[in-house]
Amino acid sequence: MTQFTGDDFLAYTLANPEGISSPCERKLPDGSRLIVSDTGVMTLEPANEVAPVDLVLSCGVHGNETAPMELVRDMVSDLIHGRLTLGVRLLVIIGNPVAATKAQRFDEVNLNRLFSGAHANHQGHEAERALNLEAAVDRFFDYGGAGRSRCHYDLHTAIRGSEHEKFAVHPFMDGKPYSDTQLGFLTACGIEAVLFSNKPSTTFSYYSKGAHGAAAFTLELGKVHAFGDNDLSRFTRIDQALRLLITEGRFARGDWKQELVCFDVCHELLKDADDFALNFSDDLNNFALFNKGELVAFSSAKEYRARESREAIVFPNANVPVGGRAALMLKAVEPDEVDVI
Ligand SMILES: [Zn+2]
Repeated sequence: MTQFTGDDFLAYTLANPEGISSPCERKLPDGSRLIVSDTGVMTLEPANEVAPVDLVLSCGVHGNETAPMELVRDMVSDLIHGRLTLGVRLLVIIGNPVAATKAQRFDEVNLNRLFSGAHANHQGHEAERALNLEAAVDRFFDYGGAGRSRCHYDLHTAIRGSEHEKFAVHPFMDGKPYSDTQLGFLTACGIEAVLFSNKPSTTFSYYSKGAHGAAAFTLELGKVHAFGDNDLSRFTRIDQALRLLITEGRFARGDWKQELVCFDVCHELLKDADDFALNFSDDLNNFALFNKGELVAFSSAKEYRARESREAIVFPNANVPVGGRAALMLKAVEPDEVDVI
């Protein structure tokens, strides 16, 4: 195992999926400091900070979701070569390199269900990784200190097709208003839909929200492909918006009230028995609509029928343990009804 001396952080991480021999620190052309403290964990401290922004950019929490890893790799390479200037504090994370080297979503357990302490209920390297990533996020935000703009964008792609190619999972706000700046930023990133969570969760992005009050989102950016097979031109808008944020500390702004389709979670569909089944084909798109009364899922215990007209489904997956989430059911909300500040 060698130290990170090149410009391809993704290749370096995949060559050292279990860990690195020792941390390393380098200077960027603009004088900023680059610190690799663990495999897939890189902190960048700007020489000339332009805005009090602490930005966490994570990818590869699911190991087969390659496009965001390539996007982030290219940004880091541009920082190393001086093609991109660092104006904010930045923590870059490649979440699950072990799974990525196996081209798998996860190895033993879905890493994105192990945060906010849920790792304590599991064993294995993914539970350990969740604990270590929480600690990395803690150190990053704590070092920045209070009174700064904290944000975390956790970048994903999906196996399933989607009626809205790019969408965001908004963290539970517990009655507090949503951020006009962040909704505008998501829109500028090319996000087409947002779903407002109705409770805390054990995802990585929610950890940053729950533990550090960050504006933190899980972003689904399109379909899964193998490394090298991604058309990165499909990510131009988010790439540009993130680069603007990294360099100038400014949140690009889209007209979210015009462009963003907003959804509330109206029901969480839980797998309630071993014979639980979804009443549609495997290739149904995310955000497909059901009419009121239409059968969505059934088991020997009970059945679930849509309770609203035009109820949308997202993340359907019957292949979860009994008691696990098999889908979220959504109801569209008018942007004017969204409470923002
Ligand atoms: Zn994912």
